[in-house]
Amino acid sequence: MTDTVRTVLTTCPYCGTGCGVKAEVAADGAVTISGDPDHPANFGRLCVKGAALAETLGHDGRLLHPEIAGRRVTWNAALDAVASRFAATIAEHGPDSVALYVSGQILTEDYYVANKLMKGFVGSANIDTNSRLCMASSVAGHKRAFGSDTVPGCYEDLDSADLVVLTGSNLAWCHPILYQRIAAAKAARPAMKVVNIDPRLTATDDIADLHLGLEPGSDVALFAGLLAHLEGTGHRDGDFVAAHTSGLDAALAAAASFADLDAVARATGLAPADIATFYGWFGATEKTVTVYSQGVNQSSAGTDKVNAIVNCHLLTGRIGREGMGPFSVTGQPNAMGGREVGGLANQLAAHLELDDPAHRALVQDFWGSPTIAATPGHKAVELFEAVADGRIKALWIMATNPVDSLPDADRVRAALRSCPFVVVSDVVRDTDTTALADVLLPAEAWGEKDGTVTNSERRITRQRRLVAPAGEARPDWWALAHVGRRLGWTSAFAWDRAAAVFREHAALSGHRPEIVRDFDISGFADLSDEDFATLAPFQWPRRTGEPAPDGPKRFFADGRFFTPDGRGRLIATHPRPPRAKPSPELPFWLNTGRVRDQWHTMTRTGLAPKLTGHIAEPFAEIADADAERLGIAPASLVTIANGRAAVVVRALVTDRQRPGSVFVPIHWTDRVASSARIGALIAPETDPLSGQPESKAATVAVRPF
Ligand code: SF4
Repeated sequence: MTDTVRTVLTTCPYCGTGCGVKAEVAADGAVTISGDPDHPANFGRLCVKGAALAETLGHDGRLLHPEIAGRRVTWNAALDAVASRFAATIAEHGPDSVALYVSGQILTEDYYVANKLMKGFVGSANIDTNSRLCMASSVAGHKRAFGSDTVPGCYEDLDSADLVVLTGSNLAWCHPILYQRIAAAKAARPAMKVVNIDPRLTATDDIADLHLGLEPGSDVALFAGLLAHLEGTGHRDGDFVAAHTSGLDAALAAAASFADLDAVARATGLAPADIATFYGWFGATEKTVTVYSQGVNQSSAGTDKVNAIVNCHLLTGRIGREGMGPFSVTGQPNAMGGREVGGLANQLAAHLELDDPAHRALVQDFWGSPTIAATPGHKAVELFEAVADGRIKALWIMATNPVDSLPDADRVRAALRSCPFVVVSDVVRDTDTTALADVLLPAEAWGEKDGTVTNSERRITRQRRLVAPAGEARPDWWALAHVGRRLGWTSAFAWDRAAAVFREHAALSGHRPEIVRDFDISGFADLSDEDFATLAPFQWPRRTGEPAPDGPKRFFADGRFFTPDGRGRLIATHPRPPRAKPSPELPFWLNTGRVRDQWHTMTRTGLAPKLTGHIAEPFAEIADADAERLGIAPASLVTIANGRAAVVVRALVTDRQRPGSVFVPIHWTDRVASSARIGALIAPETDPLSGQPESKAATVAVRPF
């Protein structure tokens, strides 16, 4: 490489670990990527996806210019078309006839402007995000238990825990740097224990002392049994529970039927001895962190699963202190930032509640807006149902590919075909979703855009521009703001830079400190452009007048929660099986997830040759006993089918898969491998509280192709 002329510190755009990236840009434009040695999320380490980021910076496949009906147009023409069609639709059919569907890939500034536009000015809460598919159950569980969507702990807790319980998380592949952090802690302190709770054996089991391969959907029974065990063996922290919690009696009553190990074994399919080992370790280990991810969240009982886990930490008082606590790790790079600005259809900015009149008044007052949405909008799955049946007539999709990623993906495709007006903002020209757009808006990609993201430990970090935007690509917040201006709200959408949006977001979070609860970064409301440019990673909150270089590492150490009575709530949880049930026709559970070296629908990671060397094609992992019974040879083609769709993929026959279940990755689409859109096989079943789809428990038939 030629001499470095610029070093830019930025953030990886993939998983919610939020690793700091050091990009060295040479005079000839070549970019060299390494980990930022000073970033507290990764201290210089990057996984293979992050390390390959430079390979994704080219313009191959990029959407370079705005288009209407497939023809290149100017930005002015495209923005005029979006604004006039949205205005006409709202005028004729009302605010709820339009919607935005955004993404955990966009920056906090993009999310902020999208929410302000929809909730404060259009007057509809029909804005939801693909983060609904990722962590909505954790949001709902946090709010039930803590009174707010607060992640209590931080990554340092993984370093100092004596027991790490991983549940529903193949951390080794999906959050590799967090996995390496736990592995390093375990290497340094061999007495540290790791339990991995997952229906299948994964790479994460390389560091596990105990694998619990439970029946799909039986997590609530396992953690209810743990609650009963902890209570029955004297592990309740009586002082903490008495002073700082509510709901104990109801939670224990609900768990009572799992006080017996055999009952837990029947419900989970686990050996009583393994359950006893897990319960024994948990009971005996003060410093315990329970890490959970999509295997918990992506369920029709996801919120109850989260609360069943949190209950055990509240009962033992193991929360808010070093090395302990429940810990949701988010799948996407900015799922947390989206939550902070109210990126879900049932939220307001600054973790405020849409259904609270005082919260609505606060936000409307701050925005000086003509209206404020008063009822929750459609959550992701419902939103596309509303498109399908014509209630939503104009939809703007931003940085996501729902034709592949949503459940019932063929119906999503049909819904978009029938929608009178579809706008798609993306960095990529040809996806299964852009193919259905009336208007295409070119967005700045990673390396081009500028703003902030928040990782799983509440750490806000800058994404910074390294290279010039491709073609006429523009920031998503800019496109949204210009549509807002065209709709007549000139001063409310007048920002000219990301720093200005960030300042407004920060100011809103401290507008009424007596009402705002956990999320408050008003200490940055007066940040200069220069200070925004050099902003170092920090954990929120950072309230006005707080000079600390970093926010508190943990919440709830003082036992004060954000519920009306200030107490953390234990929740009575009752096991609910997945909505689908295996049958003679559809005898297999279908589990879905990520592979190590790809991201979502591969629009970026698919550009990096290094990343396709790990797994080059879609596959179905199936137990060797099932393969033998069905006459499926290793590496032969198999059909995975149910009444919704069929995919044809190669069989990966292993002894890691639980008999009666099959695992297929989510990444491959019609654009990169025909017949591998696994979202088409997933039913649109959702958790009643969180609206998160059940993406890990469909039922299918498996047969040789
Ligand atoms: Fe990026 Fe996640 Fe890998 Fe870190 S662990 S480099 S954030 S993909």
